[in-house]
Amino acid sequence: MPRKSLNEQLLFERKERFSGYRYCPLCSRELREESIDHRPRLRCLNEECDFIYYHNPTPAAGALVIQEGKILLVKRAAPPRVGWWCLPAGFMEWAEHPSQTAVREIAEETGLKVRLESLFEVYSGEDDPRTNAVLILYLASVDGGELAAADDAQEVQFFDFDRLPETIAFKSHRQALADYRRRFLNKA
Ligand SMILES: [Zn+2]
Repeated sequence: MPRKSLNEQLLFERKERFSGYRYCPLCSRELREESIDHRPRLRCLNEECDFIYYHNPTPAAGALVIQEGKILLVKRAAPPRVGWWCLPAGFMEWAEHPSQTAVREIAEETGLKVRLESLFEVYSGEDDPRTNAVLILYLASVDGGELAAADDAQEVQFFDFDRLPETIAFKSHRQALADYRRRFLNKA
């Protein structure tokens, strides 16, 4: 347990230091921190290259999948927060629309085919030790498939909103659950 939290602390520190990048991905020379656009950025020392590293958050997408008033959650099998629960979601692949990401991630993790009903909300996630995220969440309903944990999930289950697990992995996911309760169930 202490070892895991140490690793997570190191990941957080690395994330805040330009994700630990030190060398130019184009020409392999060293990167130097400079103020560019009034923000700290990394710039390649090779003037002919002039690569600039923009430290941007990573977009992710998922959904609140509702069935008979219950919400689909996934028990994490991969770091960070193994054994904690979260909404089914994942990082966007190149050239994917966030709606495709959400449908794909839910199919991979839970075996369910879902139909996206609407955009629910967009969150900024800063408590993932790997990267900061922009989390795009949809509202969805089940449209086929068989509920079965796979990929990054060790367990998948629909939960009553009054009996949610206590260990929800990320602040943005906790906020989304609270927002749903407030908007659709009139509960605090
Ligand atoms: Zn370079």
